[in-house]
Amino acid sequence: MVKAMPLDKNTRLADLMYGHNGEFHCHLSGRFDPDKYTRSPPIQICEMECGCWIVADGNNRVGLILRRNPEATLADIPGRLLVFTGIGEWDDDTMGWWNPSPKSFRDVMRKRPKTRTDHGIVVHGMIERCDDGSFFACVVGGKANSSISARGATANDAKAALEGRVASELGTTNLVLVLTSMNALEDHQCISHDGYSTWKHQSPVVANAES
Ligand SMILES: [Zn+2]
Repeated sequence: MVKAMPLDKNTRLADLMYGHNGEFHCHLSGRFDPDKYTRSPPIQICEMECGCWIVADGNNRVGLILRRNPEATLADIPGRLLVFTGIGEWDDDTMGWWNPSPKSFRDVMRKRPKTRTDHGIVVHGMIERCDDGSFFACVVGGKANSSISARGATANDAKAALEGRVASELGTTNLVLVLTSMNALEDHQCISHDGYSTWKHQSPVVANAES
């Protein structure tokens, strides 16, 4: 039987699961001001079957707090803005479809991509994990609307291979490949429910990431 991560006012927000698929995005800026969001729905935190807790609603507000203070806890959010929902009280299937591989805010913010400062040609494409565990990446819209694709054993391999092909098609290496994931590239990564309190000794996740 999985023991759920106990939630209390000392629970680190970084240990909650980010409730969106893919890379970390926060569409709010400035400082978290509870009075500013009185008309927003409460921040809804749902218990997953494995014992992790996922932010179903309020990811932007949680992200806003964490960008300023990676060590923030539930105590940094007024209780009136928080709603907790246990297993069975919410739709696991919908969440599984919407967000098949939840990762903690800690992980997803750590993996935030570096901002490119050079001005390469930006090429958009997609990447997906295939049933056999390999990865398929492609871009459409080259010459005569052709598609260029590549496979790899890892997502990074597939992306690198595709980058090489697109570069040779375009005749330049000065390009920035932006790939949208079509499905979960990784499985859900449970946080350690026993050892999570030791994580506080790690260095802050994102410093000066404001852009
Ligand atoms: Zn989990």
